[in-house]
Amino acid sequence: MTIQANLNKIKQTLPETVKLVAVSKTKPNEDILEAYEAGQRIFGENKVQDLGRKFEELPKDIQWHFIGHLQSNKVKYIAPFVSLIHAVDSLKLLKTINKEAAKNNRTINCLLQFHIAKETSKFGLSLDEAKELLNSADYQALENVNIIGVMGMATFTMDTDMVRSEFKTLKTIFTQLKEDFFADNDTFTEISMGMSDDYPIAVEEGSTMVRVGSSIFGARNY
Ligand SMILES: *Cc1c(COP(=O)(O)O)cnc(C)c1O
Repeated sequence: MTIQANLNKIKQTLPETVKLVAVSKTKPNEDILEAYEAGQRIFGENKVQDLGRKFEELPKDIQWHFIGHLQSNKVKYIAPFVSLIHAVDSLKLLKTINKEAAKNNRTINCLLQFHIAKETSKFGLSLDEAKELLNSADYQALENVNIIGVMGMATFTMDTDMVRSEFKTLKTIFTQLKEDFFADNDTFTEISMGMSDDYPIAVEEGSTMVRVGSSIFGARNY
């Protein structure tokens, strides 16, 4: 199947309100352009250097999402143009994003990443850690970042009940934070969950943004 056909198939199964992030990490510009020509405008990358290069080389109306673990010392390279940073998991990182956004006279949209999987290797906050972050004076002083929702990755497993319950956890976290911290903020709306193998479950559990790579572009060779 072509990239266009894959994209169209996925889009047919997604409710119109769910945004599709086409995860193009490791894939060449030709593949991205093929998806672009099929109408796709949101792409996700997880390496700062690749993202910078692709931003330079590809059409300027692409919205680039950074979906990987982001080191504070690399924020400056993507701050001028990144449209959403999915995986913010510390106040330190958020403060750096704020500083670099200010230098570029812009506000950068971010998602807080939560640890919902059983694997210990996955990054992310707990609900308590997020509350502490959001209650801190340091956070409240930040003027150039806007937290628009939450992000999480389920355990890599065939156990769909487990995956579903982890997505339910993320939805509950979103709802709690919305009530406690963002009740007056109309932009806090996003739940980024679901990848190639589990996005249909994620959508059933309230995802507003799925991050799909291999089902669009084919398997990756690292
Ligand atoms: C690679 C990646 C994806 C996409 O994974 P696929 O299984 O190829 O759909 C989604 N989210 C994150 C954070 C990733 O690193």
